Amino acid sequence: MPDQTPYISVVIPVYNEQETLEELYTRLTSALDQLDKPYEIILTNDGSADRSSELLQQLHQRRPSQIRVIEFNGNFGQHMAIMAGFERVKGEIIITMDADLQNPPEEIGKLVAAIEAGHDVVNTHRLGRQDNQWRIWVSKMHNKARAWMMPKLKMEDEGCMLRAYRRHIVDLMASTGESTTFIPALALNYAANPTEIGVLHETRFAGKSNYGFYKLIRYNFDLVTGFSVFPLQVFTMIGMVISLCSFLFVLFLIGRRFIVGPEVEGVFTLFAVMFFLLGIVLLGLGVTGEYVGRIYQEVRKRPRFVIRNVLEKTRSPVQDVPVETVES
Ligand code: UDP
Ligand code: MG
Repeated sequence: MPDQTPYISVVIPVYNEQETLEELYTRLTSALDQLDKPYEIILTNDGSADRSSELLQQLHQRRPSQIRVIEFNGNFGQHMAIMAGFERVKGEIIITMDADLQNPPEEIGKLVAAIEAGHDVVNTHRLGRQDNQWRIWVSKMHNKARAWMMPKLKMEDEGCMLRAYRRHIVDLMASTGESTTFIPALALNYAANPTEIGVLHETRFAGKSNYGFYKLIRYNFDLVTGFSVFPLQVFTMIGMVISLCSFLFVLFLIGRRFIVGPEVEGVFTLFAVMFFLLGIVLLGLGVTGEYVGRIYQEVRKRPRFVIRNVLEKTRSPVQDVPVETVES
């Protein structure tokens, strides 16, 4: 059904995935063919430095009306790559997944069934997660912290990107225009009837994770600062408690002065207290800075990503026949 309007759109961000693209193509197309519904696959090349661009072009040539390729001008991040796909989807059900085959394409049928059962957002958690112990531990801690800070964000596992959305949810997400966002959390903001299911997880087919320690921290900050002001509120609370304690301490010192008389001991204790408070002040400044930085990023209104070209086959409005287009 290559030239029909797609019913399912699969959106995949690609960053330096030259070793996995062929296998991804084989497994994904065979899984989607089995569903027997018209579909499209949108792959966004997020500024890969390897041969991904060339390989994606070949994939598009193999199935020009089903595989569309968006080429970014640089590396704008996984979520922006998905967003660019969202802006162009034609399907009614939209699936997001990773290119490295950690999300088995054979699980897509389950997600489609959940949307067809009436849900507008299908969240997922990874069953038998295949990552190293360090990553699993970091995710567990972060999921716990996030659940505590953002109780309204009901999801067990924020890191699994194999998810499904109804078209109107995707259109809403694409219209936000935010340059730093976290798609699964954004979707939940608009969902009326979300659900969550378990999906299998595999080890990376080839290559290595793009998320090192620093990128993971940045990624998690995007989630927390993008969807909650809880960290700022924590600092207001800490500030209030410390002010109260300091006030009581001053009263105590005045009392002591009258009872015991002038004292000079305890200088180092004073230093310790000062350094502790200074640490809290610096941390608070950092947290405030994270929010100010996000505001700065948004008010500059720079384009959130730059598309170099798009490989797709569109229908000619005059004859209604498919034509090959390369947009630049
Ligand atoms: N990715 C991307 N841009 C980036 C980093 C990652 O488009 O800057 C893509 C990557 O190609 C993959 C997905 O995002 O399809 C998830 O990345 P990765 O597998 O490295 O992350 P992990 O699974 O380790 O969290
Ligand atoms: Mg991965």
